[in-house]
Amino acid sequence: MDELWVRQKARGFVAKVALPPVFGDLTPYLEAINAKLRQEELEQGESGYTITKPNGRHIVTVNSTETLERQRFTICHEIAHILLELPSSHEEVPSWSYAKRHPNEVACDTFASELLMPYKLWLDKVPPDDPSMEIIENLAVTFGTSFPAAASRYASLSHRPCAFVTMERGAVRYASRSTSLRNVNAQIPARSIIPAGSVAKRLREAVVSAAAAGEVAQDIWFDNWKKGGVLWEISRHFSSRDTTVSLLWFDEDELPDGELDRFGTSIDEEDGLEELTGHLSWNKQKR
Ligand SMILES: [Zn+2]
Repeated sequence: MDELWVRQKARGFVAKVALPPVFGDLTPYLEAINAKLRQEELEQGESGYTITKPNGRHIVTVNSTETLERQRFTICHEIAHILLELPSSHEEVPSWSYAKRHPNEVACDTFASELLMPYKLWLDKVPPDDPSMEIIENLAVTFGTSFPAAASRYASLSHRPCAFVTMERGAVRYASRSTSLRNVNAQIPARSIIPAGSVAKRLREAVVSAAAAGEVAQDIWFDNWKKGGVLWEISRHFSSRDTTVSLLWFDEDELPDGELDRFGTSIDEEDGLEELTGHLSWNKQKR
């Protein structure tokens, strides 16, 4: 069960449900799996759970004291547990801990994001303009999701090299990357500290909640990255929670070319293969 498999499974389910919900109605999903929704005041920290009756009917209960976005996410997360037949492992992992969540829970979160922001509808709604926090905010409202959920989706489905980085207490907590960045193995390691020279670092050091944008070097963000390229960083810092988020993006033609070795230096082209000319060259070989 890897991420791709979970996403394909979710997309298959979304495609089968007659009208995938866009503006907040998750009923078609619940009906498709014979489930009923119940909203109840649960204990703080408990988002929801599912009970399956002997007749096969599922009762999905969500915590009515949590935000609507959170409840919607929980509903989709519970649907994932039902469809993927994965047992729950809902002991709370505090946000400041780096304890890994159970793989079943990660899989259900991935599945939930596909249900909340179905990719075909998503791509229809994403404007062709340059990335901005405003675009992501509008998408979050349109799809009834939280800002971080929309931002992750935005970065991962972007046709540009694009990443969304969440930082807590000065360290990278999570980064989602577009296909083009994944393809070139652009790594933003979890737990690494906010890089010097980044907009995020500058905002956090000011210790007030603020937003800013600027052009920074690509190689401060990505591990083993070729020097010289620049990217746009749009960042926001929330001082009360000591959380910082950054949206990173640049144009496809600013992707570094050439292969890097594991120390991030360019592999000397003279040592590499000769460019293909179309001429067969075995007769040049001297033995
Ligand atoms: Zn769960």
